Amino acid sequence: MISSPYDELHIYYLSGRLDAGSQVFAGGYLGNWEEEDTSFLFFSRPAGEEVNALLAGQPHLNLLDSFKMTYEQWQGGSIEPMQIGGFELRPPWRPGAENPPGENPRRLILDPGLVFGSGTHPTTADCLRALETAFSQNNPGTALDLGTGTGILALASAALGCRRVLAVDLNPLASATAARNVSANAMTDRILVVQGRAEALIDCPAELLVANLHYAVLDKVMAAPGFGKKLQVILSGLLRSEAKAAKERLRQRGFRIDRSWEHEQTWFTLYAVSASF
Ligand code: SAM
Repeated sequence: MISSPYDELHIYYLSGRLDAGSQVFAGGYLGNWEEEDTSFLFFSRPAGEEVNALLAGQPHLNLLDSFKMTYEQWQGGSIEPMQIGGFELRPPWRPGAENPPGENPRRLILDPGLVFGSGTHPTTADCLRALETAFSQNNPGTALDLGTGTGILALASAALGCRRVLAVDLNPLASATAARNVSANAMTDRILVVQGRAEALIDCPAELLVANLHYAVLDKVMAAPGFGKKLQVILSGLLRSEAKAAKERLRQRGFRIDRSWEHEQTWFTLYAVSASF
């Protein structure tokens, strides 16, 4: 069994973005979460000296703060093997992850790393259930997963039988995490992970769209010409008023809402099919 590399997190919060190709840290470096003009460097051990050396070489960077927390605090709970619908999700550091899927092709190795998509959030879980619904009606050969995070929904789509999946995330740390999970599940022949904007890639042809994204992005996604060409659509990350607006937009774009899921009247997930489905 591999032990989790994430027991303790040491986080360095910087203003500015690192120069391209400059991530040369010694052991213990876990990744860089970049957002707007800030960077969060994650290590599994204290790394003040390395960070100071980095700042000396890149004067546009400034250390704003540093934090220490446990991985559980970061993820909002412990990452354990879990079952959602027919999917078995297993972190690589838990026993059994090294064995091939065997009788359950829906057994997925999932290392959430530092990004969203461990399976613990209700929107992720409902998207997995929605994928099972979508594949029970038809077998989409191609899928587009916008806002892939850990890659969990792309992996699930491939496990359900999709031949080609394009998984997209704006965040470089998320796309790197998703790519690692695709390799861990030996699905590189079926899933391509790219770093990019959902709004820019929605027009890529695919029979099935799954998008667990905040509404500001979903709103643009639903307006794109390529959105109306999808046959099956799963939208999630919707709050109650957003779900209402999304249903209306889906109808306007020629979709029929086939099924919906809600969690504590807060998070909504919609599964809709096109009139030409
Ligand atoms: N698909 C995973 C799941 O269902 O658990 C992760 C969903 S998480 C709620 C949303 C993801 O969308 C994050 O990883 C975030 O980085 C990404 N994201 C946010 N805005 C985006 C955009 N405009 N284009 C692509 N990805 C985006």
